[in-house]
Amino acid sequence: MSLVVRARRVVLPDGERAAAVHTDGGVVTAVTGFDDVPAGAVTLADDEVLLPGLVDSHVHVNEPGRTEWEGFATATRAAAAGGITTIVDMPLNSVPATTTLEALRAKRAVAAGQVAVDVAFWGGAVPGNAGELRGMHEAGVVGFKCFLLDSGVPEFPPLDDAGLRAALAELAAFDGLLIAHAEDATVIDAAPEPAGASYAAFLASRPPAAEETAIGRLVAATRDTGARSHVVHLADGDALPLLRAARASGVRVTAETCPHYLTFAAEDVPDGDTAYKCCPPIREAAHREALWAALTAGDVDLVVSDHSPCTPELKRPDVGDFGLAWGGIAGLQVTLPAVWTGARARGIGLAEVVRWTAAAPARLAGLRDKGVIAVGKDADLVAFAPDERFTVGRLEHRNPGTPYAGRELTGVVRRTWLRGREADGSPLGRLLRRGGR
Ligand SMILES: [Zn+2]
Repeated sequence: MSLVVRARRVVLPDGERAAAVHTDGGVVTAVTGFDDVPAGAVTLADDEVLLPGLVDSHVHVNEPGRTEWEGFATATRAAAAGGITTIVDMPLNSVPATTTLEALRAKRAVAAGQVAVDVAFWGGAVPGNAGELRGMHEAGVVGFKCFLLDSGVPEFPPLDDAGLRAALAELAAFDGLLIAHAEDATVIDAAPEPAGASYAAFLASRPPAAEETAIGRLVAATRDTGARSHVVHLADGDALPLLRAARASGVRVTAETCPHYLTFAAEDVPDGDTAYKCCPPIREAAHREALWAALTAGDVDLVVSDHSPCTPELKRPDVGDFGLAWGGIAGLQVTLPAVWTGARARGIGLAEVVRWTAAAPARLAGLRDKGVIAVGKDADLVAFAPDERFTVGRLEHRNPGTPYAGRELTGVVRRTWLRGREADGSPLGRLLRRGGR
């Protein structure tokens, strides 16, 4: 099965140019000049750019166990519609959590046959399971997620400093990766409680110092163990000097941020609109601008969704209470247009957006066949119209709530190919292991 797609603009690892991408059996076999194509080649419209499929290394699918929140079929259909051809599933809020080899097998079994894009898995590091980590690593998880404070679900407890160091020491033995939700409970416990519908009160209940303190703990433990770690969903611009200094001194730590931290600002969040609740919270515009600057400077490595939906009732629309509502933002389908809309407004090019949302997450997750258009890589391709505007309507994930609803964004995903086949929502996806196919 061969597919050739050509475009006047193709985003390649070494820049953007007119080219034809030749594929066979789902793999890129050649990148040639625009005119060097066989009969039957697909030619993109003049307003379309050919991109590599995005890799979203931060998705909470929640199946099995909380499938009413989200499931593999709906999450991966939303991904395909948004130009994301690979997701990496988080080890919580499914039940069981992916903290044992047995739970990993259960999750793979339930995902098999119903995924519309390729899916890889994170394992979980929780108190007492250090002995499980190597087995899950050998079974192909891309790394391990931990929390440094209460996760919100009882089956996924946090690591204290001793547990954090034990997990990192174990992972260092096989060069495994630990990714951490970095907020500190002591700082949050000392902050005011969230109070009802007030967004300002919710924001005050999770101050930036909670991120800085937790990142400090993670950096120290990473340095002392020689392991590799990664900060998920960074929202705090004031933590950037800490990360920069750690990296400059040789600590192997990376960081991601999310489209919602790059799009929204606390000043604009309406009181009572709990679709915007996530942890750490959406902070003031100054933090948002610091995160954009850090991405362009290379101090933040990637942008991934942290897609974390729930049922509508759990967002407590009856009372609009930020203390009571589930924290999590849904909307992986709009990652590309949301990031592109913000990038374009700041004079940042599409090549950088693609690096943050495709190549860098693929590298983090050790998925070497993903994230770029190049010979030998999977033929995961997206036809993207970067100048077309649209208003966010019903998205494909299971429960429609999203803070992006009704927002005008720029950039439309017109077609997505997964390993050379049109990703139309049917179950073409594979379950991936760390490393690749
Ligand atoms: Zn998450």
